[in-house]
Amino acid sequence: MTQRRLAALIGSPVAHSLSPVIHQAAFDAADVEWNYTAFDVAAGRGADAIAAMRVLGIAGLSVTMPHKHDVADAVDRLDPAAAALRSVNTVSWVGDELVGSSTDGAGFIAALAEDGVEVGGAGVAIIGAGGAARSLIDALGRSGARSIRVINRTVDRAASACVLAAVAEVGTAADIDAADLVVNASSVGMGISPSDARAIDLPCDPDRLRPSQIVVDLVYHPQHTTWLVAAERAGARTIDGLGMLIHQAALQQLAWLGALPDVGVMRSAAEDVLARRSRRPDGPGR
Ligand code: NAP
Repeated sequence: MTQRRLAALIGSPVAHSLSPVIHQAAFDAADVEWNYTAFDVAAGRGADAIAAMRVLGIAGLSVTMPHKHDVADAVDRLDPAAAALRSVNTVSWVGDELVGSSTDGAGFIAALAEDGVEVGGAGVAIIGAGGAARSLIDALGRSGARSIRVINRTVDRAASACVLAAVAEVGTAADIDAADLVVNASSVGMGISPSDARAIDLPCDPDRLRPSQIVVDLVYHPQHTTWLVAAERAGARTIDGLGMLIHQAALQQLAWLGALPDVGVMRSAAEDVLARRSRRPDGPGR
């Protein structure tokens, strides 16, 4: 009997992560003899986890907070997105080298493409300037967005993120009016169902949204956020955050196995878990 290979998530916390469910479902559906598990790795021990990967021969790692930056320093080389962001969410073997990559931005672009949305030439407003927003800015810049306006509570953080793309500039809420694509990449709305009293906190005033716009919320718990509901009422086309989650995971499997998995299988597995957890306010993380 051949030994099954092991892939794993490292992060802290990892207890509510959807990654094990999504990845294992795709391995099983494709008869790939891999197991996927999650390791809670304490802050500051990301480099140790990479050393363990080398010693134990772990075949692939997904990396989430708080290790994305430490792992970028611990691998042998970085793909262009990971090098620009100095942040790694995927580690794979290429020969005897460990390569760190960042699949979030490409996963976002792939999720939009699956919905028939091309970002080339688009004017984009991004709300937020954290790790997720930075991945998007980098990927949208590489994919030919016409302009990117970054709107963030902490303006200095928006300015640092804008360095990632030549077409990115710090914006204000007024820039949302003219955007083709409006993305919530902030954590506002995370874990808050539309029936919750806190649901009045929205990433932007929905009165700014128009029927010609595409509105994306990266928050995927709940899948149908209050802000997306409001955007639908404004007539905008909406896309939830699950697509990005699935496609960044699919690109991880491409890095590990050399082939894209069945994203439909991954999506159903994630939706099953989200439906079961939908009444829980704390919700799942990556
Ligand atoms: P992060 O690095 O912690 O950044 C959080 C961002 O949200 C910052 O821009 C922060 O602004 C802003 N923010 C937080 N609370 C706010 C508030 N009350 N009012 C205004 N702005 C607020 O987090 P992240 O990793 O970028 O993740 C952001 C969101 O994207 C999370 O909900 C996460 O679950 C989601 N996400 C989804 C996917 C996916 O695959 N769908 C992938 C990654 C992340 P300041 O800079 O002012 O603090």
